[in-house]
Amino acid sequence: MVYLNGLYSNQSCKLILGGFFMNERLRQFFAGRYRHDDLNKFLWIIALAVMIVSMFVGRAVLYPFSLLLLLLCIIRMLSKNVMKRRRENCVYLNLLSKPTRWMKSWKRRISERKTHCFYKCSKCRVWVRVPKGRGLISITCPKCHTSFDKKT
Ligand SMILES: [Zn+2]
Repeated sequence: MVYLNGLYSNQSCKLILGGFFMNERLRQFFAGRYRHDDLNKFLWIIALAVMIVSMFVGRAVLYPFSLLLLLLCIIRMLSKNVMKRRRENCVYLNLLSKPTRWMKSWKRRISERKTHCFYKCSKCRVWVRVPKGRGLISITCPKCHTSFDKKT
């Protein structure tokens, strides 16, 4: 019985040590590699969407394309050229920033449509938010300081 207990404890010790060495190997493998970013998340989502679509139409063309996207994600994750991957991600985020700002602006306008009016400055095209129910007011653009009259 004692021997068995010793055996079990030795095995568990080996398992723990094996896990430790495995973790250490994984840590060494991933050290200096790029890992995951927003562009990779986007590529994963596109790859999965293409894979789902390929189940219904065009399996011969779309499925290899989705696998190619997944391969690209893995290559980017394991890449050691961190600066290049960061630049790619930065380009992606810059491309995404304008539509994201536009969406946020429209979301805000829709959520505040009962309490505020939104007018576009005729000179610099910036949206100006004013409270509703104030009658005819003079609005000064915060960016170019142009004044215009509007009824709220
Ligand atoms: Zn303006």
